[in-house]
Amino acid sequence: MIAEIICVGTELLMGQIVNTNAQYISKRLSELGVNLYFEVTVGDNPKRLEETIKTALSRSDIAILTGGLGPTVDDITKEVSASVMGKEFVLHEESVTKIAEYFKARGIPMPENNTKQAMLPKDGIILENSCGTAPGCIMEKDEKALILLPGPPVEMKAMFESGVAPYLEKRSGEILYSRIVRIYGMGESLVQEKLKDFFEDQSRVSIAPYVKTGETTLRLTTRCKNEKEGEKVLLPILEKIKTRLGDVVYSIDDEELEEVVVKLLKEQGKTLALAESCTGGLISAKIVSVSGCSDVFIESSVTYANDAKVRRLGVKEETLLKHGAVSYETAYEMAEGIRKMSGSDIGASVTGIAGPSGGSKEKPVGLVYIAVSTKDGTEVQKLNLGNVREVVRERAAKAVIDMVRQSLIK
Ligand code: ATP
Ligand code: MG
Repeated sequence: MIAEIICVGTELLMGQIVNTNAQYISKRLSELGVNLYFEVTVGDNPKRLEETIKTALSRSDIAILTGGLGPTVDDITKEVSASVMGKEFVLHEESVTKIAEYFKARGIPMPENNTKQAMLPKDGIILENSCGTAPGCIMEKDEKALILLPGPPVEMKAMFESGVAPYLEKRSGEILYSRIVRIYGMGESLVQEKLKDFFEDQSRVSIAPYVKTGETTLRLTTRCKNEKEGEKVLLPILEKIKTRLGDVVYSIDDEELEEVVVKLLKEQGKTLALAESCTGGLISAKIVSVSGCSDVFIESSVTYANDAKVRRLGVKEETLLKHGAVSYETAYEMAEGIRKMSGSDIGASVTGIAGPSGGSKEKPVGLVYIAVSTKDGTEVQKLNLGNVREVVRERAAKAVIDMVRQSLIK
């Protein structure tokens, strides 16, 4: 089954908004196993929209349109689509009621032109709008279909999931089932080498690597009838990959490192506190992005100046004088300090030179020490994370979170 996406809106062509709808739909289509060969953007112009729809239907089975379902004069998608499909337009009473209810619930009078949104093709499939007023619809004719979705991304996504995805699955009888393996601490080429046999035979399951800031990601995909069947095919392979690569695999469910760490802390009933220097709160922000982290996350201290490290964490002045703020010893005392001050089970710290200035021959930009302290002892790692400030900070944050993870699975 071949689909095509048509995004309608002059504001898209003028670069006033980013076409996130196209990105969302294309990603979902690939997950659903629907082939996508063309993606077109066209302005709010009836003639050109008509041409675009006709072209799409000549080379694809399904065209998915977003935008222009609203009540204003520049909203032309429905009229043009219905005329191309030769469909009659009628007032859909149920939708009129729904739209009126929508306005009533918000205590605003309904503008007269909003009834225009309830004008829908006579024998079309109506797609309810759970987040707004304009209903969407599907029109079918001679094995071809046009799917009309609203422009606002929140409405479009909700409608895609509730109405379009099930429709497409039913139509194609097949889905593409994917699982994402997340790996920290092993580069892409070594991962590929270790999984050579999987990469060589991709007949049933395709495997695609993808790299992002210090992480390797694998996407495994198989074509199947439903999710259950897909899981049956992929789970044994996922298990094999986990065994083969070991602890570097931190998730087979596309979770972030911090999600995994919060989960582990919860499972083990442990708490965490952080002492951050060069990351300036980045690690805490990541941890706090995980909902429910309040059960396990106690506090974070952003101690940038030497004096703050002494005052807040109890780092010895002598240590700072002798070894400097970016040193094994300081990282050690920071992690131990925050653990003791906060009374948490685990204290983790980071101190480093994010650059671009501040480096020296002995301590170059990118030099970072991270440490994890528990009642059983404190461990420190020395890292070199490159010379781009933002990258150093991001990598350092991830490294600390992973070090906490390693201490939890040990
Ligand atoms: P409305 O009823 O709000 O008028 P509509 O279905 O008529 O919705 P448009 O008028 O085309 O849709 O777009 C409404 C808004 O939705 C745009 O101003 C824009 O913010 C957003 N939008 C439209 N198309 C896209 C797109 N392809 N990607 C991201 N946002 C979009
Ligand atoms: Mg509009």
